[in-house]
Amino acid sequence: MTEVLSHVDYMALEEAHSSGVYAKRALTVVRGEGAYLWDADGRRYIDCVGGQGAANVGHAHPKVVAAIQAQARVLISCPELFYNDQRALLLQKLTQLAGMPRAFLCNSGAEAVEAALKFAKFATGRTHIVAAMRGFHGRTMGALSATWEPKYREPFAPLVPNYTHVPFNDLAAAAAAISEQTAAVIVEVVQGEGGVRPASGDYLRGLQALCHERGALFIIDEVQTGFGRTGRMFAHQHYDLSPDLMPVAKSIAGGLPFGACLIGERVGQLQPAIHGTTFGGNPLGCAAARAAIDVLIEENLPARAAALGDFLMARLGDLPQRFRAHVREVRGLGLLFGIELRGKVAPVLKALQSKGILALPAGLTVLRLLPPLVISQADLEQVAQAIEAVLDELSADEA
Ligand SMILES: *Cc1c(COP(=O)(O)O)cnc(C)c1O
Repeated sequence: MTEVLSHVDYMALEEAHSSGVYAKRALTVVRGEGAYLWDADGRRYIDCVGGQGAANVGHAHPKVVAAIQAQARVLISCPELFYNDQRALLLQKLTQLAGMPRAFLCNSGAEAVEAALKFAKFATGRTHIVAAMRGFHGRTMGALSATWEPKYREPFAPLVPNYTHVPFNDLAAAAAAISEQTAAVIVEVVQGEGGVRPASGDYLRGLQALCHERGALFIIDEVQTGFGRTGRMFAHQHYDLSPDLMPVAKSIAGGLPFGACLIGERVGQLQPAIHGTTFGGNPLGCAAARAAIDVLIEENLPARAAALGDFLMARLGDLPQRFRAHVREVRGLGLLFGIELRGKVAPVLKALQSKGILALPAGLTVLRLLPPLVISQADLEQVAQAIEAVLDELSADEA
């Protein structure tokens, strides 16, 4: 048995010994179930952080828990120098789901993006990558080079050369940047970390056409938008796109660390030894991912995200009219929902937390909601009311 410490003791231990790269809230989360989290003092919260996108099927989903427990007794690690039953079955399920023939399995979103970038360079023999302003693709050096945010990039210069960032949703700018040296264009269907900014269908279709015309590969980063989040299993399915490479992670395995890079026909044959990772395709993660994908399908969670996203938009879409002084815009796709404020989001997050609701920022001014897709409409109504109450308080403070 581990000894049970108080909430304050756990915070002090982390403050003393953790790396220091995370700014944390004064809250120790110890348990989750569905769309609820509990802190060390037993207080319950409605969770609109959703494991930062990793909890689409809900916390501790019984089918995912059972799959992990059963597989943990049988085999946890098995590198890809052997075949494995769980991996074979996951690869079949995942490629079928994505409508792409192959996948490289890994352990996180950054790794999935890293794989996509390497495969694009290898397959095309080209050296340049085109990415979008405000895009987020992860923190390892290759993925970071595709990420736009200067405060993530600048301390680590020089990054990987030959990355160009073009304005998002601007096809003419992309057309000017994509050349015969471009290995790949990488883009999100909805920029998540960059402020919950949806791409237009015309923009994405235009990018895909430019890639085909100029011999570049089209990478759609679905790490945050995948597995039902936006109202489709994958967000690019809203626009009938076919990416050549598709990094996924976050909710792929019900919350366990896992990722994959789906690989399309235009990529062609990859060769042994050009890439790899020890934990990639480990049986425990594969079993969890098989279960999580089954849950998404059986519980019809993409359609649920679409319906609940419509509910939220109907409920909160007019915030810019009702709270003109505080809300600039409301936008999103499915249950990837953003409220752009005129001021800083941090105090709003804090006020929501005191009302029992946990939410995320996306940049300094956007309030982002990423609830598990199993959340009830009644709980989302509570979230909407709490947001209205906090905006009312802001208005009262100014009066
Ligand atoms: C979170 C995220 C990543 C990075 O995933 P990690 O698992 O944190 O490395 C990459 N791309 C997008 C779009 C993301 O939202």
